[in-house]
Amino acid sequence: MALAQIGVTGLAVMGRNLARNFARNGFTVAVHNRSAEKMRSLIAEHGDEGDFIGSESLEDFVASLQVPRTVVVMVQAGGPTDAVIDQLTTLLEPGDIIVDAGNALYTDTMRREKDLAAKGLHFVGSGVSGGEEGALLGPSIMPGGPAESYVTLGPILEKIAAKAEDGTPCCVHIGPDGAGHFVKMVHNGIEYADMQLIGEAYDLLRTGLDLNPAEIAEIFAEWNQGDLESFLIEITAEVLRQTDARTGKALVDVIKDEAGQKGTGRWTVKSALDLGVPVTGIAEATFARAISSQVKQREAARGVLTASTGDFHINNREGFIEDVRLALYASKVVAYAQGFDQIRAASEEFGWDITLGDMAKIWRAGCIIRARFLDRITQAFERDADLPTLLVDPYFADEIAEGVGAWRRVVAQSALTGVPAPAFASSLAYYDSLRAERLPAALIQGQRDFFGAHTYKRVDVDGTFHTLWSGDRSEVEA
Ligand code: NAP
Repeated sequence: MALAQIGVTGLAVMGRNLARNFARNGFTVAVHNRSAEKMRSLIAEHGDEGDFIGSESLEDFVASLQVPRTVVVMVQAGGPTDAVIDQLTTLLEPGDIIVDAGNALYTDTMRREKDLAAKGLHFVGSGVSGGEEGALLGPSIMPGGPAESYVTLGPILEKIAAKAEDGTPCCVHIGPDGAGHFVKMVHNGIEYADMQLIGEAYDLLRTGLDLNPAEIAEIFAEWNQGDLESFLIEITAEVLRQTDARTGKALVDVIKDEAGQKGTGRWTVKSALDLGVPVTGIAEATFARAISSQVKQREAARGVLTASTGDFHINNREGFIEDVRLALYASKVVAYAQGFDQIRAASEEFGWDITLGDMAKIWRAGCIIRARFLDRITQAFERDADLPTLLVDPYFADEIAEGVGAWRRVVAQSALTGVPAPAFASSLAYYDSLRAERLPAALIQGQRDFFGAHTYKRVDVDGTFHTLWSGDRSEVEA
């Protein structure tokens, strides 16, 4: 019997489509699922798409693979992934590769890689983005793990990955151990920020200009022809155009305004706090989802908290629409700049040696945040691999300079009209903090020294100093 070049265990939506993608690309794929019915239905419904070898037991599944064996695990993250890895470990041999393509927390991936390396197995934690459709038609793939496993695995993954317009596969070896899952996590964090910013733009247009969803859909569709062109802007127009069959209303008006989350935004923010990287756009987006789901608090506040917005009106309709577009673009650049900062910080902390420009390259197609301007990000890092922040790249600095007035007007108008725009506002505050000549941090250092003798540094003399606050208030060198 011919053996399979690759195996997939876990055949829910993602695993099933990934297995079909391998088969459609000419690979013989071994398939397995804990409950065999999913394996049987995959072969019954799609067996004609390529060469599948279905197994009911994990033992038969492993036996159906070419040596060295490559097994893609696509099950629920957390405990289930550990359970499947433990079972596989007893069946695999040194030199075999386990790929965890689920949404694992990168620290779990680091732990698993270490444990499996001690047993002679290669463990590759790989981010996969693009949802159900991407898994089938070509996702963006972010594999970590040992570089030597990429020699075998890389060509297979590159074949099934999405291709950018220039034909480059959206898959690259990100770096050792948890690097792949870390980058996927930040990708999702940026996705949160992007979606929140789009949501705020919609809300401002809706409330500020009293437009209906269908009218706003046309604005997004038009924006999708320019610099903002992206999958998320495109689907925003689709969602806003959708009419609810039951009520005849816009679908967006009958959907509960309580945003869910599966945790990758929260992970991104937690990691950013540990690394000391201000990812304010992602944090605001994550908290905005949390506020939307605080049903009790929102109910209690409605009708009690006053708006005091007066009778402020936006008079220049076209001008405001253009302002919102520019504010959205500038805030989006901030979210990406912060996400790239976080990847760089983790790469330095964990010794991953990640090439930042490559991240923008592999996000150009297949993934949820695919966007026209990722090409510009790649170019920025090609011009200067040590760019301190994307915001100072000449291209982006100029683009934002053109829109900064609009950005300020939009943030001010959101405050004046009482339409919450936390991600717009905090992105602008981040921009202003970076460009400020002096920050009030000097005062904070003074306060810290006052109550905790935490000391401070001076602008004019080297060294560390403390003022004797409860004594004669003279300064001493600490
Ligand atoms: P899922 O709902 O997260 O997981 C269901 C799969 O896990 C089923 O095959 C299930 O087997 C298996 N499973 C659960 N517990 C198990 C255990 N203890 N032992 C063995 N198998 C177990 O599936 P999914 O939505 O396809 O996602 C798979 C992975 O991809 C997840 O880590 C997810 O976070 C990640 N991901 C999902 C998306 C997406 O758009 N859905 C996008 C990117 C990444 P049974 O059928 O036997 O229950």
